[in-house]
Amino acid sequence: MPVKPDQLRIVHYPHPALREVAKPLKAVTGEVRQVASRMLQLMHEVRGVGLAAPQVGLPWRMFVANPTGEPGDDRVFINPKLTNPSPQTHPHEEGCLSLPHITGEITRPTQITIDATDEQGQPFQLTSDQLAARIWQHENDHLDGILILDRMPAIDKVANRQAVQDLEDAAQG
Ligand code: ZN
Repeated sequence: MPVKPDQLRIVHYPHPALREVAKPLKAVTGEVRQVASRMLQLMHEVRGVGLAAPQVGLPWRMFVANPTGEPGDDRVFINPKLTNPSPQTHPHEEGCLSLPHITGEITRPTQITIDATDEQGQPFQLTSDQLAARIWQHENDHLDGILILDRMPAIDKVANRQAVQDLEDAAQG
C-alpha cells in the first residue's frame, strides 16, 4: 500500500511500530524522499532535533536529524550504520518525540561514526563528538525498536512511572 506522506503523524508509546526492528530500504525512491521531507516538517513543527521512520509508523531504516534547528542543517540518513564508538561515554538528559513528558539520563559513547545514504542516493560518512553523535545514537536505536525507557537508569524509570502509565492509559482510549 503506498504511503501518504501528508497523513503521516508522530506516534506515541506504546504504539507497536516503536518496538519493531525496521527493515533496510532497497532504493531511494520519490516516495522515500517525500516521506523524509514530511518527517523533517514534523520534526521542526515540534522543535525536535531528530525523528526516525518508526516514529511515524513506518518500519524503514531511515531517520532525519538537525542538531541546530537551522534549515541548512537538515540531514536525512537512510540505512545508517554506526561504527567506532569511543570508549569514553557520558550521560546526558534525553527526551523523545514519541514519549511526551518523559526524560532520562542516558549514557552513550561520546564520539561515533555514521555511514548512511542521503535522499539523493549518495553515500556519506560523518564523525561527531557533539550533540549530533547523541542524536544519531538515539535515532538509530529507534530503528532497532529501542527506546530511552530501555536505557535510562532505575531512578529515572521510577520518576517517569506515572507518565508512562498515562501514555499506556491514553492508548487504551
Ligand atoms: Zn526518540
